[in-house]
Amino acid sequence: MKFALKNLIRPNILALKPYSSARDEFKGDDDLPFQHGGNLFLDANENPFNNHNRYPDPYQRELKTALSERNNISADRIFIGNGSDEVIDIALRVFCNPGKDKILTFIPTYGMYKVSAAINDVEILQQPLTEDFQIDRTALLEVIDDKSLKIIFLCSPNNPTGNTLNAEDIEFICRNFSGIVFLDEAYIDFADTPSWLARLEEFPNLIISQTFSKAQGKAAIRVGVGYMSPEILHFYNKVKPPYNVSALNQEAAVRQLEDYDTFTLNVYMILQQRKRMEKDLQAFDFVKKIYPSQANFLLVEVSDADALYDFLISKNIIVRNRSKEVKNTLRFTIGAAHENDEVLQALQAYTAAKALV
Ligand code: PMP
Repeated sequence: MKFALKNLIRPNILALKPYSSARDEFKGDDDLPFQHGGNLFLDANENPFNNHNRYPDPYQRELKTALSERNNISADRIFIGNGSDEVIDIALRVFCNPGKDKILTFIPTYGMYKVSAAINDVEILQQPLTEDFQIDRTALLEVIDDKSLKIIFLCSPNNPTGNTLNAEDIEFICRNFSGIVFLDEAYIDFADTPSWLARLEEFPNLIISQTFSKAQGKAAIRVGVGYMSPEILHFYNKVKPPYNVSALNQEAAVRQLEDYDTFTLNVYMILQQRKRMEKDLQAFDFVKKIYPSQANFLLVEVSDADALYDFLISKNIIVRNRSKEVKNTLRFTIGAAHENDEVLQALQAYTAAKALV
């Protein structure tokens, strides 16, 4: 594989002189008051009063140190985004020339790759996954050498199908594609296969994204993480807004990482409930197929997805209708045990209502 990072970066980003923030120019800490030998910060037009009056650390060092220790990966390979949606968007902005370049996705998959591509005026190639939701290598080989193809997005475990992509295919793409491989591991903590983080250093073209929104249970704090080579990180840092993650969110993420026991217990409970829902959903006549899941949701084929979707709404239970992507399917997020009880009760009511018709 001929991977040459400089040739992949958009020329305007390569040449870009990034915004230099006050905290870029003077990196002192503000722990000690001026009266006791600390610094008096008058360089960022901040307000001397109130809480949260100072700009946050633009490079989120405390959080990166915590993630570095947790995942055994050096902090100079970590990018913190305002959700992993920002990690996706910045990849497009760093690598893809609007109106010229392309990305490749495998559908059905997470919808944001397409939207981010459209926002950035980047063409998207969409190859259908095979019947068991894996990559079709023959189709892939037709486009893998296209010089205007800059990023291949892989989502594993994939949303909305729930399966992981075959490791051999991921490795094949990393080795044989001379552009960027963006591997979205938003759901990896629910999978029984390991993250690719341990192999990040083998592949200079690999970006792995993870998030605090799923297994960490912190969707509201909007913290996503990109793992990449220090060379790619340099360009991510050039493009990101200077203070892209608030101090409140950085602190919440650091605190979240401190309680590993609760994290593992929550993941365990979700996996137990996934198993239970898989079993209990099978009992309903209208359930045609439950796709095997490595994530915190189940994609379920039913006899009439639109009708069931509307019925569940009438019971105040909101699931996702994915029928446009996979015929007659609803995607059920796995809730807590008492929430799943409610879902099953509503499904029983649906069976009873159908019997009356
Ligand atoms: N990737 C995938 C596969 C997702 O399903 C989602 C959210 N549903 C995201 C990324 C975005 O996550 P975040 O909250 O970190 O922006």
